[in-house]
This record gives sequence, structure tokens and C-alpha cells, in this order.
Amino acid sequence: MSAITLNNGVTIPQIGYGVFQIPPADAQRMTEAALAVGYRHIDTAAGYQNEEGVGSGVISSGIPRDEIFVTTKLWNADQGYEKALAAYETSRKKLGLDYIDLYLIHFPVPQKRLYAETWKALEKLYAEGAVRAIGVSNFKFPYLDRLLAGADVIPAVHQIEVHPTYQQAELDALTRTHGIAVEAYSPLGRGADLTAPIIVEIAERVGASPAQVIMKWHLDRGRVVLPKSASVDRLTENLRVDAIELTESDLTAIETLEEGLRTGEDIETFDIPNR
Ligand code: NDP
Repeated sequence: MSAITLNNGVTIPQIGYGVFQIPPADAQRMTEAALAVGYRHIDTAAGYQNEEGVGSGVISSGIPRDEIFVTTKLWNADQGYEKALAAYETSRKKLGLDYIDLYLIHFPVPQKRLYAETWKALEKLYAEGAVRAIGVSNFKFPYLDRLLAGADVIPAVHQIEVHPTYQQAELDALTRTHGIAVEAYSPLGRGADLTAPIIVEIAERVGASPAQVIMKWHLDRGRVVLPKSASVDRLTENLRVDAIELTESDLTAIETLEEGLRTGEDIETFDIPNR
């Protein structure tokens, strides 16, 4: 599988299995299934409440730990220096792993004004070698710039919602300007973008499924992609995209689908304090 080299030299498989909304009871089985068909990158979060199952799946797979890239994220209620350090340890223990490959601040939660302090905790974890890379998620303008202004370590990754009907092209470009890799979450628009006529037409022409066309568009544009599926057939389909060839004209046709259709949370207001 193709990989991207992050700004600190660490390599990350370009496709990761996203486990948002995979119930805790299914997380081990689905992680094992994803690893069995070839995924080597799993994207979870403390907020998904399935870290135990994901970690169990990583361990029970029998695949050497250093061949699997594991991401988890700091939940909003755990922002702040000391709380973030404690939350990291809680996540690490739930996962049952000695280290985490990538640790992200899940949301800036600007009303709390804690993300700069929280970033200092992630920098400490990185300096100590507890994590191989650190990054952020959902840091739209101006939060990414504000974080960078006080940062000693530039984030390696920015995980944001990107799919054909919601591309966040400016934020994607700003992120890359700083040498930060873009990870596309909800890469299929939670399934809603699969029926767009342009996607269906390209899929029929190149002999691929609509999901595979969207996956290949992300890869060709240099993003890390995090599709979720609760079906082994579909998660396998999402990974098998190497043979698909899209032209530049296909890629730009997909980009005409931009409609500002955000499926995720409004980060200006989003916070669930008790989760
Ligand atoms: P996706 O764009 O991955 O869409 C998932 C939906 O698409 C599901 O309904 C799934 O159904 C369907 N689907 C998946 N593959 C196929 C296929 N080949 N054919 C048809 N339908 C398909 O959206 P998500 O919101 O689930 O995001 C994916 C990942 O991104 C998450 O798991 C998480 O890791 C990350 N994420 C991060 C966020 C953040 O704030 N940082 C926020 C949201 C997501 P089915 O399961 O039935 O196959």
C-alpha cells in the first residue's frame, strides 16, 4: 500500500480504517478483519469508546506491532496540560499498546481556550517518545495559525472532513503550506457522495465502484484517507484501488461537485463535555 512520509520522517500508510461508529463489541473483530485484508493503519479516538477493542484486534492479529500504524485522539473534556497527559495514558492503556503512532487533538473547542496548552502536552509526549507523531483535527482558520504561532513542534497531520461535496480546499492548501499532511475524514461523505452522477459515470467507465473512484481521487491528490465500513466486503473494496487509473480531467470533474455539504460537527460550537 502507498505511504506518505510525514514532516518528521515517520511514514504513514495512505489508507487507514476509520472506526467511528464501530460499536465497542465489534471493534476487535472489525479491526482483525481490516488487518486481515491488508489495512495497516487504524484510526480511532477516545471519543469513539472502542479503543479497547481496536487494541485487542491489533494485538490478536499477530502482525508485528511496528507494521501497524495506530492513531487515537484526545477528547474535548480532556483538554488542558495535565488532563491531556493523563488522557494519553488512559488511551494507551485501553489500547494495550506500548506506544501510539499518532496522537491528535480531536477538536480545537475554541470556547475553552485550552488548545495551545493542550498542544504543549502533546509536544511533551512526542519529546519523550511516547508517540511517534502528533497532530490536530478540525483546526480550521484561524485555529491552525494560532496553534502554530505558539508551537515548538509543527503538527505532522491535520485530520479534516474532505469529500467531493465538501472539499475544504482552502484549509487543505493552508495545511500543506505548513508541511502538514492532510488526512481526509468522512472521505465518502458518509456514503452520500457515492451516487453523484459524475462519480457513477467515471466508475462505470474505469470499471470500479463509486467508493473506489472517490478513494483514488483522495490518493491522487496526496491525502491520507480514512474510510469506515462495518462490512468486510466494503472495507476490502475501499482498499483495493491501486489498479484504478483516473485522468487529471476525472480529478477536476470530481472537484466540480463542491457544494459545501459538511456532514460533521460545526467546530465553532461543538463540545460534549461529559463524554
Ligand atoms: P465515510 O465517508 O467513511 O462513510 C462511511 C459510510 O459509507 C458508512 O455508512 C458506510 O456504510 C458507507 N460505505 C463505506 N464504504 C462503502 C462502499 N464501498 N460502498 C458503499 N457504502 C460504503 O464517513 P465516516 O464519517 O464514517 O468517516 C470515516 C472515518 O473518518 C471515521 O471512522 C473516523 O475514523 C474519521 N472521522 C473523524 C472525524 C474527526 O472529527 N476527526 C469525524 C468523522 C469521522 P457501511 O458501514 O454499512 O459499509
